[in-house]
Amino acid sequence: MIDPGSTRPKPTRAEQECEPAEPGGLAIVELERELHRLQRSIRLTIQSHLQTLAGQSFGSLSQNQQMVASIHSLLDSHGFRVQCSECGHPAILRVSPRTGIEQGAFVFDHTIERRRTFHGGRAVMPEIRLVAKPTRKKARDGKKAAG
Ligand SMILES: [Zn+2]
Repeated sequence: MIDPGSTRPKPTRAEQECEPAEPGGLAIVELERELHRLQRSIRLTIQSHLQTLAGQSFGSLSQNQQMVASIHSLLDSHGFRVQCSECGHPAILRVSPRTGIEQGAFVFDHTIERRRTFHGGRAVMPEIRLVAKPTRKKARDGKKAAG
């Protein structure tokens, strides 16, 4: 059954689906690329500044806590976390009171296999590596999160 009306190819739909390179879409792709570069540059800049603090303590327990809290709010506003030096998970750097360490212990606070876990625990600021803040899981707890 050959209907002359339906043999006409429909180029518009096919082209739209395999070529997203319409001018508007391309501009967005370029913009995303540029922002990605900037984000990387911001990450490396913050990281190199924080490196200068490694190995230091800032006076007292509360001063150490203030320091890591301001580091966290800075990182959070740019979408970063610190990377745990023990397990590599994204973490929040905190200072916890600890027996034997008067000014508190620097710990990596993170959730591993749904358990809040602390790694580290030295008396001085650890070396900092930054990673992207993990995306928040929204009401999808039932599904398994492999890897
Ligand atoms: Zn860890």
